[in-house]
Amino acid sequence: MAIEPTTTENGLRLGDIEFIWARNSRDFFFSNSILIHDSQTTIVDPSSNFTYLEQLASRKVVQQVLNTHYHVDHRSLNHLFRNCQFICHEKDLAAILSFDNYLKYADSERNSDYVLWLKNIFSSLEILDGYVSILLKDEDLVPLKDHAVRALHIPGHTPGHLALFFEDIDLLYTSDIDLTPLGPWYANISSDIDEFLASIRRVKLFHAQYYATSHGGRIYDREQFLEKLEKFESAFEKRDTRLLEALHERPRDLKELSQIGIVFKSSQLSDPLKACFERQMVEKHLERFERQGKIYQENGIWRLA
Ligand SMILES: [Zn+2]
Repeated sequence: MAIEPTTTENGLRLGDIEFIWARNSRDFFFSNSILIHDSQTTIVDPSSNFTYLEQLASRKVVQQVLNTHYHVDHRSLNHLFRNCQFICHEKDLAAILSFDNYLKYADSERNSDYVLWLKNIFSSLEILDGYVSILLKDEDLVPLKDHAVRALHIPGHTPGHLALFFEDIDLLYTSDIDLTPLGPWYANISSDIDEFLASIRRVKLFHAQYYATSHGGRIYDREQFLEKLEKFESAFEKRDTRLLEALHERPRDLKELSQIGIVFKSSQLSDPLKACFERQMVEKHLERFERQGKIYQENGIWRLA
């Protein structure tokens, strides 16, 4: 029998799985959380709602914390649960264990606005260098007592990015394959466009009754999910096309290509953080074109092959 979702004070509940929607999903530090009511109660990505999560932490009901990946907006409240067991994918372990590793994954420019922004948040939020006691691989079951939740490795956004399939409620949680209007985000050294695309194809073929993501307070049925996912995926091609058109007009360097507005709108690029993200994502597309033999670089100038 299908389980129907019910609305709660902080989100939505399906059986023993409670979704806590991000209080302010426009803020970079926030993402949805999932509370798994189990003899081994587990919180996924504690980053949604300080008041509620603090309450849960003080009641000491949570035994495990699972982070779907290492990004700060998915573990900004990990510290509330410091006596719990921590779980992540093995490929994101290094960046969770130390902030130095986080920075190595972040940006090749060591003093970019992005790096400075990260240093600033890590000093203002209480994010400690973590410890992790359980590492997951693709298809592993999350260590729970009463529920079957399977980890699916969907790299690209980060190397160890995880989706979770909640078998009891037939719901796939795709974390930062998040279906937001901006489209896919891969502005990290550790991000990879081809892996991202393969992961999108994988979740597309994954049949479930319900779907949810880390940003946006709602669940989708399969039809709604596929429609949004199609749009999300098409952003890669649109960005590719814009870049090739720009290079068709004339050869250009990375700096110039990063000012056009390939990912963000050009009007948004006055924000130094977005400008950094733009540069990194444009660079990923260029390197991919180069591997495909479509373009080449001479003295920092990119040209069509
Ligand atoms: Zn992320």
